Amino acid sequence: MAGKSSRYYMDLDNTYGAHNYHPIPVVVSRAKGVWVWDPEGRKYLDCLSAYSAVNQGHRHPAVIKALKDQAGKVTLTSRAFHNDMMGLFLKKLTSIARMDVALPMNTGAEAVETAIKIARKWGYVRKGVPSNKARIICCKENFHGRTTTIVGFSTDPPAREGFGPFSPGFKVIPYNSIAALENAITPETVGFLVEPIQGEAGVKVPDPGYLRAAKAVCRKNHVLLMLDEIQTGFCRTGTMFAWMREDAKPDILMVGKALGGGVMPVSAALASADIMSVIGPGEHGSTFGGNPLASAVAIAALDVLIKEKLDASAEKLGMRFRNALNAIGSKKVKEIRGVGLLNAIELKKSAGTAREFAERLKELGVLAKDTHGQTIRFAPPLVIREREIDWLVERIARVLE
Ligand SMILES: *Cc1c(COP(=O)(O)O)cnc(C)c1O
Repeated sequence: MAGKSSRYYMDLDNTYGAHNYHPIPVVVSRAKGVWVWDPEGRKYLDCLSAYSAVNQGHRHPAVIKALKDQAGKVTLTSRAFHNDMMGLFLKKLTSIARMDVALPMNTGAEAVETAIKIARKWGYVRKGVPSNKARIICCKENFHGRTTTIVGFSTDPPAREGFGPFSPGFKVIPYNSIAALENAITPETVGFLVEPIQGEAGVKVPDPGYLRAAKAVCRKNHVLLMLDEIQTGFCRTGTMFAWMREDAKPDILMVGKALGGGVMPVSAALASADIMSVIGPGEHGSTFGGNPLASAVAIAALDVLIKEKLDASAEKLGMRFRNALNAIGSKKVKEIRGVGLLNAIELKKSAGTAREFAERLKELGVLAKDTHGQTIRFAPPLVIREREIDWLVERIARVLE
């Protein structure tokens, strides 16, 4: 039987799937490293990396080997019993993240929900906040996931409208403003939930020193700094975590995406032993959280980041990428911004929409996704090489002509 066409698979999705995404019209049926192929055999450079969940590259041999080996032993036990992989995974993760302990979950949104629960409980039992009064400060244009609690403090209309009523206890302030943070804190404030760089908002990079200053304000007011590094973590921004750039170690760290090596959903909330100790048996959990298959995959995914020095690679190639983009000097570009290999081009309104650019890039063999109207994000797997960066820039230059 001849293989089916891309059109066939897109029609299936449109007919039998909910229309909760508006994908670029391409079907991926095979992938390796930084490259993906469609059913017709056309080859594309992946510049999204599944929203930075494939930092190690597609089907990294070490990650796939760990998956296969563990699948031959045990895959799921639930936390009703111990397994012989979770502890090894958490030991490695906490050491890399320089935190004491971790609570493993599956998706990013679950890690954020976990962090919210830890912060609130900490507020009641440690800070003495009156019952049900805990408040968490978050930022405009945030993206922390899709659960009802999380979309309740989103400021993106399609993400939230029609899904209320929402959980109370959140206060939204402008991003990148220390004054706004200081003003928003009350005795009931338990945490400040923030992304080191706002990825979904279009790669919004705050001023240098923002995280460090936010940490100082939090410390002074007995408020937990809660960093969502689900997208910025694991070498994406040129350091293992974005907070390491300015030594702004958080009280609670949320990780996900690339922790699963592009293979499985694996996430976690990390904290000091003291903060995490507010959560006791029966107070939080997940059937699949910490499962041995995910743990084995995550160990391999973390090892790849370190062995292949993907932090240094992201830093160096990110620089090369931005320098080359700036050298194009296109009049259509409003701004080029980013850190490491998390970058974006914001187009002028007159240049057309980012969606049109993304579709033209696809025709040239580059898969990138528009975010928020005029911005296209470029976040290839971190195993990308210099000549592939140059190849990419050449194609971007063509669509910017
Ligand atoms: C992707 C993302 C999430 C949500 O992760 P899911 O696995 O999709 O639930 C949360 N925060 C940030 C910053 C993200 O980029």
